[in-house]
Amino acid sequence: MLAGPTSAAQRPAQLSQQVRNFVKVDAQIIALTNARVIDGTGAAAKSQQTILIRDDKIVALGPAANVSVPQGATVIDLTGKTVIPGLVMLHEHLYYPVGSGVYGQLGASFVRLYLAGGVTTMRTGGNVNGLMDINLKQKIERGEVAGPAIDATAPYLEGPSGMSQMHTLKDEDDARKQVAYWADMGATSFKAYMNITRTQLRAAIDEAHKRGLKVTGHLCSVTSAEAAELGIDDLEHSFFASTDFVANKQPDVCPGQGVGQQTIRELDPNGEPFKKLVKTLVDHNVALTSTLTVFETFATARPKPPGLEVLLPELREQFEQTFERVSAGTTQGSQNYKALLPKGMALEHAFAKAGGLLVAGTDPTGSGGVIPGYANQREIELLVEAGFTPLEAISIGSLNGAKYLGRDRLIGTIAAGKQADLVVVTGDPSTRISDIRNVEIVFKQGIGFDPAKLIESVKGKVGLW
Ligand SMILES: [Zn+2]
Repeated sequence: MLAGPTSAAQRPAQLSQQVRNFVKVDAQIIALTNARVIDGTGAAAKSQQTILIRDDKIVALGPAANVSVPQGATVIDLTGKTVIPGLVMLHEHLYYPVGSGVYGQLGASFVRLYLAGGVTTMRTGGNVNGLMDINLKQKIERGEVAGPAIDATAPYLEGPSGMSQMHTLKDEDDARKQVAYWADMGATSFKAYMNITRTQLRAAIDEAHKRGLKVTGHLCSVTSAEAAELGIDDLEHSFFASTDFVANKQPDVCPGQGVGQQTIRELDPNGEPFKKLVKTLVDHNVALTSTLTVFETFATARPKPPGLEVLLPELREQFEQTFERVSAGTTQGSQNYKALLPKGMALEHAFAKAGGLLVAGTDPTGSGGVIPGYANQREIELLVEAGFTPLEAISIGSLNGAKYLGRDRLIGTIAAGKQADLVVVTGDPSTRISDIRNVEIVFKQGIGFDPAKLIESVKGKVGLW
């Protein structure tokens, strides 16, 4: 068994002035009163609750009559508001497509947007920079930068791909060396990519597991079932990237993502081939990461994604032109994605109902338009569209991520003894999931951040830094 990649970080003793600028609530004892609480376990919402926070922990939770509020506590009346757990999202990036085949390193603005959207813990799903994910993780832990706790993924483990921001693995020995090097540099998880071989993947998994670290993959050359047999911990994009059903697939060769997706579009969620794959994944404890947000931007006749106003004007314009073409169905693939999106949703739902661990993320890549923070809320909405109840969707976006990271004793749910990672929203997302967008305060380790200030600080500049 794995120990889990991240141990609990202490709350920093001091916050930098830059971080303090974003703080709305900072007190040793905080009482949130008259709150509706969605605790993240999937249990029904409870109204008229008091949450007592001391330092970085929740110390009491219950009806007002059962929780005594100490003298001197900072009391915040949350009448009409709901508290949900801080989101734990597992396919995030600190980069964004700024031009054809080029990814700009936008970690400085992205960590603020993630936090503003209610994400208090995230795993980056691969990095194309090397050090930014690791350095930002450490700066956030030290209180120098405002952002979620980060499980920092190393540069991609990839075969020949033509991607100019990725290393090409030479062989199995190189795969081991890369894992060892980046683990020593501070990376806490690994991501394999579309052209890795089974031998390289096996070596990478072995080296990572020796160090108590996990490996995920956006695969193509290696099928989902093969990766499960090799011991992979997670598969990105759930079944959207599976090549298991491609006829005459050559081992270790990616037949093209579109070829795999055509088979997924045609797959019967009640058929034996799919059920067999689900059983293999569940039996091997392989989690699947849902990233419906990025696929939504590829599909025709979908709503415009939220948060575009934070982008640099040039990037916003670039995406809006793409959006017009995709909406009209004139781009290659947009009609295909229109059919693939609901099928992918149905398969994810079936996987979770069969006992699989479905986790959530956003993947701010593609052709743009997946905006950190905003997209995390949208992902939860899309899980509801996929057939989960709002309470289940919130649990996938909080508790399931925490379980995957091996940190669910500390984060992912709201209970006495847990870390005070909480999102206060206006309204009631248990009955109207879009209320998850109305974030008022984001508590991370008991410190309440102001989402409006975080967003204002980057508005119109996301694309520069
Ligand atoms: Zn990604």
